[in-house]
Amino acid sequence: MSETNSLELINKLSQENLDQYCSKEDIELLVLHTLDINRNTLYRENPSLDDNELKKIAHFIERRNLGEPLAYLFGNKGFWNLDLFIDENVLVPRPETELLVEKILSLYDSKPLRLLDLGTGSGAIGLSLLSERPSWEVYCSDLSLKALKVAQENKKNNLVNAHLVNANWLSAFEGNSFDVIVSNPPYVDRNDKRLLGDGVSFEPTEALISEDRGLKDIRHIIKTSKSYLRDSGCLLVEHAPEQSKDVVDLFKDYSYSSIRLFQDLNGDDRVSFGKIA
Ligand code: GLN
Repeated sequence: MSETNSLELINKLSQENLDQYCSKEDIELLVLHTLDINRNTLYRENPSLDDNELKKIAHFIERRNLGEPLAYLFGNKGFWNLDLFIDENVLVPRPETELLVEKILSLYDSKPLRLLDLGTGSGAIGLSLLSERPSWEVYCSDLSLKALKVAQENKKNNLVNAHLVNANWLSAFEGNSFDVIVSNPPYVDRNDKRLLGDGVSFEPTEALISEDRGLKDIRHIIKTSKSYLRDSGCLLVEHAPEQSKDVVDLFKDYSYSSIRLFQDLNGDDRVSFGKIA
């Protein structure tokens, strides 16, 4: 079968895959990716596919139907203004995490400052910030060397000059040295049904799960960051909406000031903020 047109194929395959993970939208993206074209070209030219391309698409659909995220199939994901390389050693960056980037950009202009993205994974947060504020000194740290390799690739591809550090949370840094610490740490409870969600079982559990109802790492970060922040420095952490009260209480317990909660695009409490007085 050598003369299959893309649009007919997409319709046919989406009928065949009703009620599976691979949606019609996913199939369209798989076709665009395989042919290396954009949507305009697809709808304007309705290109034909050869046997090799058809095989590739069938293979992608098989993997997607087992739950593998598109970001791992494609090896990339858009986040903020960056196109990030992504593999199974890092979380797929979520749109709600862009809230951290947005808030920090709205709080700080391009005056030089030192910022640490703690548990950076793919580098999504730190590298996005640095691409917007090249005058900042940005450190991206992670315990996982495999994650840091992904961040390194993204640093190179996006031509930004972040410092990548292999460290267990703050242990490698000097006290009193950052103006901003930001983190999207693991915060999902081991029994949370979110872990059964689409694609999540393919993601690294050490980037998702935290003990103590998902709060163990957040508590450690809030507790220890205080002595690594300079005067008037601030900490921003991502968390699950239902953790907001606990997280705000932790900021209070450790005597941060100007404590605030920020909502993501769904209106859910997603980021907590606190300052060193
Ligand atoms: N936001 C992710 C989720 O709900 C979890 C990411 C994280 O633990 N940092 O799946």
